[in-house]
Amino acid sequence: MKKNIAVIGYGGMGGWHAEHLLKSDVAGLAGVYDTDKNRLDLALSQGIKIYKTLQELLADNKIDVVTIATPNDAHEEITVKSLEAGKHVICEKPVTLSIDSLNRMIASSEKNNKLFTVHQNRRWDIDYLAMKKLSDSGEIGEIINLESRIHGSRGIPSDWRGTREQGGGMLYDWGIHIIDQALMILGWDVKSVRCSFENITNDEVDDGFRMELCFNSGARAYIEVGTYNFIAMPRFYMRGKNGTAMIIDWREKCKVVKCKHWHENDVTPVKTAAGLTKTMAPRNSVTVDEYEIDKPASDVHDFYRNFTAAIDGRETPLVTHKQMKYLLKIIMDGFKSNETGETIVW
Ligand code: NAD
Repeated sequence: MKKNIAVIGYGGMGGWHAEHLLKSDVAGLAGVYDTDKNRLDLALSQGIKIYKTLQELLADNKIDVVTIATPNDAHEEITVKSLEAGKHVICEKPVTLSIDSLNRMIASSEKNNKLFTVHQNRRWDIDYLAMKKLSDSGEIGEIINLESRIHGSRGIPSDWRGTREQGGGMLYDWGIHIIDQALMILGWDVKSVRCSFENITNDEVDDGFRMELCFNSGARAYIEVGTYNFIAMPRFYMRGKNGTAMIIDWREKCKVVKCKHWHENDVTPVKTAAGLTKTMAPRNSVTVDEYEIDKPASDVHDFYRNFTAAIDGRETPLVTHKQMKYLLKIIMDGFKSNETGETIVW
């Protein structure tokens, strides 16, 4: 049977959830609640049921699940109240702003015997899925490093994302997504975290950051978010022991150059700028294969399909408590490394 899901926080992302739930094969939109009357009026005008208070929503026995899409600093309180009211909870990312806070949320989920997960929807991004598929297949050999970048040029949005108190900043906002993707590709086996922030358009929170994760396997991930990049660097760049893959932009296919023969006789030196080089001479089709990979199929609504199946005991939630803690620890270490200038070793 379809689950009844209410959305708390009917802003940008709350609207996204509502739209998906209205079309869902596994759930229905029970209604929405927001502290802003204008947002409730909008919901009413769209024919969506509204709850005037959180208490009213939580008292509705027909609601099985709540999806929380408020600013980050409100996640813990609403999650715990919802779990105590007997609802399963899907919380937007970043789940919350400290490990202690997350531990309280998990403890409440266990005490109330209700499921609690985080909406890591970017596990369904097709660019990330192409990279993961390539890495998992071993097609370019063992992965040496992954570079994952999100570059824009509009600075931090002028809303709560610019305030420290509400959990603003790009490490929390975009970082949590692309760190999660890097762990899904390279494994949940981090050895150290190094991070530095940028404050180009905003002093209060990071409007960009650069993070390096070293893994026990020897692999490295270089993760970067920028909001002052008028020319964006490639979205993904990944080197394996047998080739290199790159995705310029999420709209583009993954390009692969795979090594067929390491040695090449009689390399012709090339002229570059004011000099000559054999080391950097481009390879030819005798030693490398060059091709594109088809974009993988993806349906982000599989997140809701999984969660509703987990409620019925048919599946387990894809985003686990262990992963939530792991991700938040990396974020916390990112803050610490930025402050101290040190690499945080696990
Ligand atoms: P937003 O500002 O557009 O919307 C937030 C809404 O929450 C507003 O309408 C606000 O009035 C309401 N609100 C604030 N405090 C509340 C409270 N205590 N109770 C009920 N409503 C409250 O912000 P947004 O961009 O929609 O972000 C919301 C959450 O979704 C954040 O956690 C953000 O990180 C996350 N998000 C996730 C993705 C994703 O792809 N997973 C994308 C965007 C945002």
